[in-house]
Amino acid sequence: MEKKSLSEMREEIDRLNLEILELLSRRGKVVQAIGFLKANRGIETFDPERESLMLETITSHNRGPFSDEIIQKLFKQIFEASMSLMKEEVTQEFLFSRRRKKENTIIELEGLTIGGDKPVLIAGPCSVESFRQMDAIAGFLVECGVKILRGGAFKPRTSPYTFQGLRKKGLEILRQISEKYDLIIITEVMDPRHLELVAEYADILQIGSRNMHNYELLKELGEVKRPIMLKRGFMSTMEEFLYSAEYILSRGNSNVILCERGIRTFERWTRNTLDISAIPILKNECHLPIIVDISHALGRTDVSAPIARAALAAGADGIMVETHNNPAVALSDGDQQLSLPEFREFCRAINIM
Ligand code: PEP
Ligand code: MN
Repeated sequence: MEKKSLSEMREEIDRLNLEILELLSRRGKVVQAIGFLKANRGIETFDPERESLMLETITSHNRGPFSDEIIQKLFKQIFEASMSLMKEEVTQEFLFSRRRKKENTIIELEGLTIGGDKPVLIAGPCSVESFRQMDAIAGFLVECGVKILRGGAFKPRTSPYTFQGLRKKGLEILRQISEKYDLIIITEVMDPRHLELVAEYADILQIGSRNMHNYELLKELGEVKRPIMLKRGFMSTMEEFLYSAEYILSRGNSNVILCERGIRTFERWTRNTLDISAIPILKNECHLPIIVDISHALGRTDVSAPIARAALAAGADGIMVETHNNPAVALSDGDQQLSLPEFREFCRAINIM
């Protein structure tokens, strides 16, 4: 007799569980609809006042046997899960989102496509040091088939006492070299005050890892008529990375290229840790092209080719690599720049030219 009533009670619990589940699912669907509405109107998803009012109403109706405290805890968990649902709904509406735009963004630049079928190679020194240095490097790179030349004129250096870049002079050298060899130029802009100047000389603007969170700079980049290559902050999650891209996209510049360049971990045998998993995950989440900078990820040259191949196998749209005509005397990042013969060997090994 007792056994039967226990099983009856269990059956009732099973039924109630399903009823609760049904109610939770219905609640979740309404939350998603609210998330969609808020996304379209640009309204903040979290509304603390509304949440506190809901909790008050719920506790005032509590007839036990659970204490008010327990009921509040349970509902807070439901609210939290709902917030995640809403956030998902909002993020799917973001301009970077693959769910919003299915097809890949392809950036066309003087006959070259970034994000198309063929991966691109961006090469050049860490810093522009002189016309002669750039001339020697560019002449060699062009022979190897390189179309995009990198080189920093404004350099983000850890120490204020090391070489800070040739600044405007560096930009002028880059433009002269570009004209001489018909090369596309990518160079870093660090400060909104230099934006107009750098955009005058460069074809693609690079935003360095340290500036990924410089939201005022990102906003300004939205107004610029140049493609932007945004590097991942070395302490940033993929989500933060994409949110930074959204800053640029939302201000009207749809030509954004992401660049994975390694993140800081406890590992010391590489300068950073290249996050290979970020490549296919970001590709799933967003439609923007992704370049992998193997030089700043590794901080060394000996494993450049296998790492570049790994990045391409993971779906990268191109590789960026630092090269110098005399790495031993380079004014920055000497350890990670390939010499010119090493670069030629690297090109053969990755076979994308
Ligand atoms: C660079 O590419 O010149 C550079 C400074 O890299 P990062 O911003 O990734 O450190
Ligand atoms: Mn460098």
